[in-house]
Amino acid sequence: MSFKNVLGHSKPIALLQRAIRNEKVANSYLFLGSEGIGKKIVALQFAKVLNCLGGTADKEDACDRCLSCKKIDHSLHPDVLIIEPMGQGIKKEQVIQMQRELAYKPYEGKRRVCILTAADRMAHDIPNTLLKTLEEPPLHSVIILLANNSRFLLATILSRCQPIRFSPLPFPLVSKWLMEAKGLDEAEAQLLASLSDGSPGKALEIQGEIRQIPREELLKDCVGLKSPSFERIGRWVESLPSQRENLLLMLEVARTLLRDLVVVKTLKNNKKLIHSDLRPVMESLVTNWSLSSLLKRMDILHQTTLTIKANANTNLALEAMMLSWAEG
Ligand SMILES: [Zn+2]
Repeated sequence: MSFKNVLGHSKPIALLQRAIRNEKVANSYLFLGSEGIGKKIVALQFAKVLNCLGGTADKEDACDRCLSCKKIDHSLHPDVLIIEPMGQGIKKEQVIQMQRELAYKPYEGKRRVCILTAADRMAHDIPNTLLKTLEEPPLHSVIILLANNSRFLLATILSRCQPIRFSPLPFPLVSKWLMEAKGLDEAEAQLLASLSDGSPGKALEIQGEIRQIPREELLKDCVGLKSPSFERIGRWVESLPSQRENLLLMLEVARTLLRDLVVVKTLKNNKKLIHSDLRPVMESLVTNWSLSSLLKRMDILHQTTLTIKANANTNLALEAMMLSWAEG
């Protein structure tokens, strides 16, 4: 893989290529963007370009064939260090070890590149240790911090790195990638992409859990049911996954089901369904619904999701949601 094969992220890549072209590669970068979006892949391609022995004529992309590129691909290059969190996060010993390593000149490459993943999950005693390295970076080295959220990084660290922001990828791009690179069928790819928040990594991560969710049942017995009975409400709430993350995922699926009901209700030519396999069920369900009732139901679902994200009692929040739904 090289820059030209990376999925999306043309702006961050253009910034890095401009730095290479102008010989203005910074000593420390901070790649900011949500989990699984592709920050580490771009960081690795950058390390490859900086150390490539072949490369494109303009030297802005890696050749993907030379010994250096191959070693980086197989995590065997001695000058490219990747620091992953151990347990809860990055530990102080790991940063000290990184500093020792960076003190040496490159063994065989042109630049030592250190990629510190999860920089927003570091033990509290690390920042000062890391600051010294960021303040006086060793020659021939590039440090790349990866973080999902800059809120958890000290201002002193932020000010010493060049920030590069990674935006969520467009939904069709994630969906296409899931089909072409991962061999998923269209229906599953559409569903996962729509729940991925623009992150291919998240799409893959939730694949197993999404397969466990009984979508048709959720649609028929709950989301699309005009007035679920109290008994049904109780049964449904009890049957829900207790883990907050799983529950939120199920509510997200419920949101996409409601969204599809709105599409079926309003558009005659409804090619753009996320749950295209459930179209016949939806067509029979929407006859009982007005558009405004569906939109109101979506709004209540959205409010409930926010309440649960804010750590409310999940059972109470769900019961309140179902009662509001039953009132129509
Ligand atoms: Zn190469």
